[in-house]
Amino acid sequence: MFIDHENIERLASMPEPKEADALRALKAASMAKGLSLEEAAILLAVREPDLAGLLIRTAAEVKERVFGKRIVLFAPLYLSNYCTNGCKYCGFRSGGNEIARKALSVDEAVTEATALEAMGFKRILLVTGEDPRWGIDYIVSCVRAIYERTGIRIVHVNAPPMDTDSLKELKASGAGVYQSFQETYHRPTYEDMHPFGRKKDYSFRLGVMDRAMEAGFGDVGIGPLLGLYDYRFDALSTVSHSLHLYKKFGAHAHTISIPRLRPAEDGLKDVPMRVTDQELKRIVAVFRLSVPSAGIVASTREPAGLRAELIHAGATQLSAASRTSPGGYAGTEASLEQFSTTDHRGLAEVMKSVVDEGLIPSLCTACYRAGRTGVDFTGRTVAGEMEKFCQANAVLTLKEYLLDFCGNGTRESVERAIDQGLAGVKDQGIKKALAEKMEALEKGKRDQYF
Ligand code: SAM
Ligand code: SF4
Repeated sequence: MFIDHENIERLASMPEPKEADALRALKAASMAKGLSLEEAAILLAVREPDLAGLLIRTAAEVKERVFGKRIVLFAPLYLSNYCTNGCKYCGFRSGGNEIARKALSVDEAVTEATALEAMGFKRILLVTGEDPRWGIDYIVSCVRAIYERTGIRIVHVNAPPMDTDSLKELKASGAGVYQSFQETYHRPTYEDMHPFGRKKDYSFRLGVMDRAMEAGFGDVGIGPLLGLYDYRFDALSTVSHSLHLYKKFGAHAHTISIPRLRPAEDGLKDVPMRVTDQELKRIVAVFRLSVPSAGIVASTREPAGLRAELIHAGATQLSAASRTSPGGYAGTEASLEQFSTTDHRGLAEVMKSVVDEGLIPSLCTACYRAGRTGVDFTGRTVAGEMEKFCQANAVLTLKEYLLDFCGNGTRESVERAIDQGLAGVKDQGIKKALAEKMEALEKGKRDQYF
């Protein structure tokens, strides 16, 4: 098993490093080629304020070198809150509130996706509880219908672990990233938190990304649910998970999420091992430096102010406008929320705040559709080839947003972001092609990308 509990416990309890050791690890990190687990552990143990500041700045620099200034925005779409598992922290768990359950019909899923499209989103993440009545056939039908009947350009999926054949079906439906969080990599805590249902099986969950890659998913999304166990153990295990995928398949995790435990109806009364904001920032920085090619995703579980800080610590993706109950966007009847969110702003406001931070919001979906996925994506990012595409594609998505959604008060900040993005495109060939594509958008063409 690639999660070596003993070794990770040892690394997770490492004392604060000597300055020279921390600086050595930071120097290695600044090459943007990733870190060993040992080096990641050294940086995760840094507390001294000056060194911690340097850690965050190094992560921000590496992020900019790899992906430019762009921050990708997306929204989750909850399909069903029926669940047969007993996860103690989740509002959807079986045995909790059984009254407000809802599984969207395929038509309702399309209505929800259409509502997100009308806000300006191009990329969505389908999310669902685990119940065989709404299993793989249902999920695949929703993915296909959303592609066929809406303008959403990429559909990612966070769904319970499944076998390889089901993952092949999911891949064949056109799903982009397959995402599933291990919650905690610490087996005894995992077993305590998941007392019944299929999710009880730690190994089945841990193995799902191997199965996903075998099933043809180049891009997989992993993450710990922070707060269940010692964050250092879970953060290092997450790095270890990605290193394992890289070693075995040549591709790192495409995304790493950093969900922190939130209050949920019938959930845990207290957070077992609270993670502070400062710790969360350091976790993000260590993920960025350990796996420079990964998208690091900060959700609306976190407040607006902290999310603004996380995008300067290495995070590259933000969800926005999120509702965690099925039917939450199109205003159909109320149903059970998975957990309460903190950042309730709409897409336009989140875009504006990203611009105010000096960064460039992006609604890009290019890589999945241009074939830059899996091994190819990891290789290109490590070689420093992605930045020029990311920046140019961000500009194109903003231009399109400006043309189609300009009535919502964000015009000035979107124009500012376009100017800043254009100024940052250095490659002359891309610059010329970018001008042509922008002109095509103005003439009514859509979906222009590199
Ligand atoms: N049901 C599937 C599963 O568990 O894999 C898929 C999606 S689940 C709805 C999405 C994620 O939400 C879980 O993997 C967990 O990390 C997170 N989550 C659950 N309860 C939470 C809570 N109270 N606060 C924050 N995140 C939570
Ligand atoms: Fe069900 Fe997922 Fe919630 Fe667990 S985390 S109760 S599997 S929806």
